[in-house]
Amino acid sequence: MNPIAIAAKGKGLPGMLRRAETIRQRYGLTPKQMDRTLGHFVTLLGKYKCGATFPITTAILGRSRGVVEKYQAQRIEFAAHGYYHTDQTLLSFDQQLEQSLAARQLFADRGVRCDGFRSPYLRFNPMTLAAIKQAGFVYDSSQALAWDIPKEMETPEYRRALDFYGAVSAAVYPALPRWDNDLIRIPYCLPDDEAFVDRFHTNPARMTELWSSILKSTHVRGELFTVAIHPERILFCQQALSRVLDDARKLQPRVWMTQLYQIADWWKARTQAQVRVTDDASGETTVLVNGLEGVRLFARHVQVTSETRNWDHSFVQAESPFIKFRAARRPFIGVSPSSPAYLSSFLRQQGYIVQVSSEAMNYSFYLDRSHFVYEDERPLLDEIEQGDFPLVRIGRWPNGARSALCVTGDIDALTIWDYALRIF
Ligand SMILES: [Zn+2]
Repeated sequence: MNPIAIAAKGKGLPGMLRRAETIRQRYGLTPKQMDRTLGHFVTLLGKYKCGATFPITTAILGRSRGVVEKYQAQRIEFAAHGYYHTDQTLLSFDQQLEQSLAARQLFADRGVRCDGFRSPYLRFNPMTLAAIKQAGFVYDSSQALAWDIPKEMETPEYRRALDFYGAVSAAVYPALPRWDNDLIRIPYCLPDDEAFVDRFHTNPARMTELWSSILKSTHVRGELFTVAIHPERILFCQQALSRVLDDARKLQPRVWMTQLYQIADWWKARTQAQVRVTDDASGETTVLVNGLEGVRLFARHVQVTSETRNWDHSFVQAESPFIKFRAARRPFIGVSPSSPAYLSSFLRQQGYIVQVSSEAMNYSFYLDRSHFVYEDERPLLDEIEQGDFPLVRIGRWPNGARSALCVTGDIDALTIWDYALRIF
């Protein structure tokens, strides 16, 4: 299938023609216009002290001179959006590996940090993940995660796009990174700007409303909202973006406004952090997390004897890098030795303190599962988070943040020539 046919499949033909018109309006013959657009976007983000992650097609970076580099110093992270803007699932493993290695090399040659990858059209297969991991990428952000939208907004074009992207539902899967086979996988939240413009044909007010509600949901669940805007559409999206960033700055406990590489680094470091549990003769237990900046400890329904502050309606946050408490049973998560290793890994990735033990009675919450798959994650998180059993845990996000937010958007072209070359 040629790139026009692929784009038409994802967007529908009317969507693709509208997109072509947008392209004509948004890009110039030189990168000047796009540079101004990026400058406007970055200035807007700066008002909220917020960075962003912009995956850019590697060949576009290769053809450009200096536009990308200067934004690195302004809290903008770049990632690879394919080597060419092609559907990765049509390439063999060897082709994907070769292009991933070439992408890493080109970014390095240009002095542009590049830790992450996002597939063009959000389309990938297991070979894509294996290839980018082998090429040295730390994270992938290609998995589309669709938040529920009001029934009246649904259109056949949007349904078709979700199928094309291989999107999964945020009602079923958590909006959280996942450390899988040594690659951090960070979901891409939908609807993005393209959905609002090309599939819903709606106005900025509707976008503002829906994105604000996604922000609220991610905050309640302690999850991640990737606010996805292709930079060339910033003018259409700025009302919604400003509102989301404004709300995010006001929410308590705070929202961690960050970039994808920081999320990936944090997720790995926090999951690997050494947790030391010691019991003293007086019956007091101390939990200490070693050597990771930003780590915070929290407790619920436990008699804490060290200094704490209120955090939300059920947890208190320790004031120091340790927490001391008294509890009849260990307020950690006990996991039976016969449970799958992925269960313990998943729980540790959330910041829970996990002990593999056959002594179920020693724990305030104990799991003995014969199998555990991705679809079991959401119900288990709900059971733990909404439960009222005693629990001591590490914060999922750094510095006491309750949820995370990252503005991100793909750069498919810097000039109209890039766009034309992409197709032909
Ligand atoms: Zn793209």
